[in-house]
Amino acid sequence: MTAQTALPAHADVAVIGGGVAGLAVARLLAEGGAGVCLLEARDQVGAGESGRDSGLVMLGTVDHPNRLVEAVGAADAAALLRFSARSIALLDALDLPWQRGGVHAAWNEAEVRDLDASLPLLHALDLGAEPLSAADLEAGWGFLRPVAGSLSALRSPWGGWLEPRTALDRLAAQAQAAGARCFTGHPVLALDGQQRLVFADGRRLSADVVVVASGWQARLLDAAFEDTLYPVRHQRQRRGPGSATLPTSLSTQGSYLLCRPDAAGGLVCSGARWATQHLEAGETDEDRPSPKVSAAQDRFLSDRLAPVAGGPPVETQASISAYSCDGLPIVGPLPGRPSLLACLGWNGRPWSWALAAAEDIAQGLLTGRSDLPRRLSTRRFLA
Ligand SMILES: Cc1cc2nc3c(=O)[nH]c(=O)nc-3n(C[C@H](O)[C@H](O)[C@H](O)COP(=O)(O)OP(=O)(O)OC[C@H]3O[C@@H](n4cnc5c(N)ncnc54)[C@H](O)[C@@H]3O)c2cc1C
Repeated sequence: MTAQTALPAHADVAVIGGGVAGLAVARLLAEGGAGVCLLEARDQVGAGESGRDSGLVMLGTVDHPNRLVEAVGAADAAALLRFSARSIALLDALDLPWQRGGVHAAWNEAEVRDLDASLPLLHALDLGAEPLSAADLEAGWGFLRPVAGSLSALRSPWGGWLEPRTALDRLAAQAQAAGARCFTGHPVLALDGQQRLVFADGRRLSADVVVVASGWQARLLDAAFEDTLYPVRHQRQRRGPGSATLPTSLSTQGSYLLCRPDAAGGLVCSGARWATQHLEAGETDEDRPSPKVSAAQDRFLSDRLAPVAGGPPVETQASISAYSCDGLPIVGPLPGRPSLLACLGWNGRPWSWALAAAEDIAQGLLTGRSDLPRRLSTRRFLA
């Protein structure tokens, strides 16, 4: 996306943040005819967390569907899983390249039970996954070890992976082609309460509507996010080719441990933030990945995935995610402030939610219709 220089005094919609969420909102609103200005603090869009993520696409929340049902009840769990599936389907509809078909392998006996309990729930929603077959094993999954006497691994058409940089560049180009104007190197210092964005040099941009898609840093812009969002550091490592190649993405431990192949024949591994007592919550320094998390990822790769693990890491990167207090995204107009909207709080999984959230926001603003599950609405705790 080519950066604009002359900041206008007014926009129909101002989108704060140029990660996957902000770019998707900008694209869909601009395609609907809105005059969109996207403001990004960094010198490039997609240069924040979105550009550093591992790119795994996974259905729903970090916990298995059976646990989601236990937490929120069957009806809300179904609405959330369907919404997540809608988000994943949008990868194709928005022409974002991805590899469909991720595998989830059980880590221990408790997770075998979770997979067994989740499979019928997914089938009942028509979101079925299938146990890994003998053909799958021959096609490259032979290194997976059985847990509790069975293989206990599922392949899901709602899982897979993408190269975040490629997807973000595509999204940015699409947003610009649709007419969205993008201002990089423009950190928004404050929202002045009258739909005006304030910049460090004193300039102001007024907007009919403001969409906050600035990740955990939304806390610094509006008090509404202070109690609902918190920062969590995630990190990933990249390794060169091993003696075998991971056929597609792999998640385990709920999705607290993730791997996927990369274009160079190696792999990307992320997760294991449980290696620190505080689960990396509250960490805001993206320049210092945790050595404990790196060591836990190394152990996982050498103990469980040795044939595909390759040599030592060639790159380790961290970034800061926006987590919400109930583990679910925060989407839509803030209560009592219909022109200020949130599109954030992916709890480490934007590719599970953000495209449908952006679509819902655009549809709501352009047509007045919203199909957002109530569990994602800002009203659940900001009212
Ligand atoms: C190592 C790692 C691995 C991950 N793996 C996965 C994965 O496999 N699958 C998955 O789905 N997710 C994964 N994630 C999580 C995912 O990257 C994030 O949830 C996602 O990128 C958040 O997108 P976003 O658009 O909300 O935020 P961001 O990408 O953080 O974008 C927000 C943007 O807002 C800008 N900004 C902030 N404040 C201001 C301001 N005041 N003014 C202007 N601009 C501002 C920032 O510079 C940033 O560019 C991973 C994250 C990491 C770090």
